Amino acid sequence: MTSQVHEFQAEARQLLDLMVHSIYSNKDSFLRELISNASDALDKLRLEGLRDKDLDADISDLHIRLIPDAEARTLTIVDNGIGMTREEVVDLIGTVAKSGTAELRRKLAEADNASSEELIGQFGVGFYSTFMVADEVTLVTRKAGETVGTRWASTGDGTYTIDDAADAPQGTAITLALSPVDTDNAVNDYTDRFVLRGLVKKYSDFIAWPIRMLGETPAPVEPAEGEDAVEPAEPVDETLNSQKALWSKNKSEVTDEEYADFYRHVSHAWDEPLETISLHAEGTFEYQSLLFIPTQAPFDLFMRERSGGIHLYVKRVFIMDDADIMPEYLRWVQGVVDAADLSLNVSREILQEDRQIRAIRRRLTKKVISTVQEIADKRPDDYATFWENFGRVFKEGLVNDSDNAQAILKASVFASTRSETEPTRLADYVTRMADGQDVIYYMTGESRTQLEASPHLEAFAAKGIEVLLLSDPVDEVWVTAVPEFDGKKFVSVAKGVVDLDGDDADTADEAQNEEFSPLMDWLGETLADDVSSVRLTSRLTDSAACLVGDEFSMTPQLEKLYRASGQ
Ligand code: ADP
Ligand code: MG
Repeated sequence: MTSQVHEFQAEARQLLDLMVHSIYSNKDSFLRELISNASDALDKLRLEGLRDKDLDADISDLHIRLIPDAEARTLTIVDNGIGMTREEVVDLIGTVAKSGTAELRRKLAEADNASSEELIGQFGVGFYSTFMVADEVTLVTRKAGETVGTRWASTGDGTYTIDDAADAPQGTAITLALSPVDTDNAVNDYTDRFVLRGLVKKYSDFIAWPIRMLGETPAPVEPAEGEDAVEPAEPVDETLNSQKALWSKNKSEVTDEEYADFYRHVSHAWDEPLETISLHAEGTFEYQSLLFIPTQAPFDLFMRERSGGIHLYVKRVFIMDDADIMPEYLRWVQGVVDAADLSLNVSREILQEDRQIRAIRRRLTKKVISTVQEIADKRPDDYATFWENFGRVFKEGLVNDSDNAQAILKASVFASTRSETEPTRLADYVTRMADGQDVIYYMTGESRTQLEASPHLEAFAAKGIEVLLLSDPVDEVWVTAVPEFDGKKFVSVAKGVVDLDGDDADTADEAQNEEFSPLMDWLGETLADDVSSVRLTSRLTDSAACLVGDEFSMTPQLEKLYRASGQ
C-alpha cells in the first residue's frame, strides 16, 4: 500500500488541538504515557509469545529504549513489543477509541482553555500527549509475525500521513521532533540524559521491563607521550529503572531490607518501617497494595498543609504520590496502591468519587486498624512506640470514622488511675470493673497531673474504681461522639449524678439535707452568678466541695477547645 494522507476522526482532532495548545502544566507526563504504552506492548507480546509457540517474534530480550539526540532535537522511544498493523495504527492512533468518547466529545464542545487541563486529567489521552512537547511525531511500527511495517507521521494539525515501512524492526519506535527549548516556562529539555534519568526514576521506576539508554559518549583520552593512541571509549548502556514492583510480590519473596529501602523511597524518611502490610485484592476491583507503618512520626504530622501520602500506580505506571486513599486519621501510613482499572490520567477530584478507590479505602482502612490491633496483641514494645507517635492521630478516627470506631477503640490504649506509666486497653478495663459497675468512668483534662489532683476522683479512689484519665485534646471530642464500648457507656466522673455502688452518691439522706439546708441556701444565693445549683454530696472523701457539670454540659476543657476555635 502506498502513501496516504488521512484526517483524524473528529474527537481525536479536538483532543489533538487541545494537546497542541495545551496549558497542562505537567508536560513531562508524555514520557510516562509512552513508556506505559511500550510496557503494555511488551506485556502483550510476552503473553502472545507464551500462547503461540509458532509466533515469529523474538521475546528473549524485551525492553524499552530511550534515544535522545540533542543535535537533532529529537527523542525516540523504542520498544520491541507487539507492534501494530497498518489498520491498527489507523484505528488506534487516528481515533479516540475509548469508552468515555461520547462524554469527552460533549465536554470538548464546551471546553475553554482553562478547563482543558482538567479534561486532560480526566481522560486517558495517552499517545496524543506527545503533541504537548513535539512539533512532529513519527511512529514506525511492525506487528509481531508480519513482514511489512508502517510509518505514521503527524504535526498535529488535523491530518497524518501513513506509509509502508519495508525494513521496520518488530515493535514500535516513536520519534518526537521536540519543540524548541522552553526554559521560560520551565519545560524540561527532553534530550538531556540527566532529565530523562530523573523522569524515568520518578514516574516509571517500577515498570517491569528494562528501560535502557546509552550514556554520554566519554571524552576522548589523549595518549600519554610516546604511547599509542587510546581506543575511543564506547558509551555505556544504562538501565534507568529498578524494575522492582515490590508490591506485586508476595511477602515471602521480598527481604526486610528491600522493604525498608522501598519504604524510605516512598516516604522520604530515614527510619525503619514498624510494620509492612502487603495486600493483594482480586475480584471486582483488582489492586495490589504495599503499606508501611513508620517507626517515627514525620515532623509535619500535625501540619495542615502536609504533603505526601499513598503513591498511586495504575498497572505499575506511576500516577501521583499523594493520593487521598487513606482517611485523615491514618495519614501517617505510607506506601503504594496499584489499581488495575483506573485511567492513567485520573485526577484528584475524580479519585474522590471513584467507586474503586472508595472500595480500596474501606478495605485498607480496616486492614490498617486490624494490623495495629495485631501489634498491640503481639508486640507490646512496638505498640508502645506506635502509640507514642501516632496514638493521638489514630484516635481522631473515633470522631471521623464512626463505622470503625469500635475497632479503633479496641486497638487503642488509655491512661487510667490504675497505673502511672502503663495505659490500659478498654477490654482490660472491663475485666477489672467492680461488681455492679456497668459503665466506663473517665475524666478529661489538660494533663495527668491536673486530673489526678481533681476532687472528682476521690470517691472513685476510695472505692477502688478505675477511671480513665484522658488528656489529649481529641479525647474531649471523641467521648461525646462514641457513646459506648462493648455495651458499656462512657460516663464522665465530672458530670451530673454519678451512681457509685447502687445507691445515689449525690443524694445525701433526708436528715442531712434538712440539717444543711440553711447553708445550701446561703451558698446558692452567694454563688448564684457562678453555679446553677448547690447540693450535698457523698462523692467527696477529703475535699469539702467540688464543681460538677450538668450531665449534658460541656466539660471545662471542651469549653476551652470551642472558645479557642472561635465558637
Ligand atoms: P491507551 O494506552 O490508554 O489505550 P494510548 O493513546 O496511549 O491509549 O494508546 C492507544 C493505543 O495505541 C493503545 O491502546 C495501543 O493499542 C496502541 N499503542 C500505543 N503505543 C503502542 C506501542 N508502543 N506498541 C503497540 N501499540 C501501541
Ligand atoms: Mg497509553
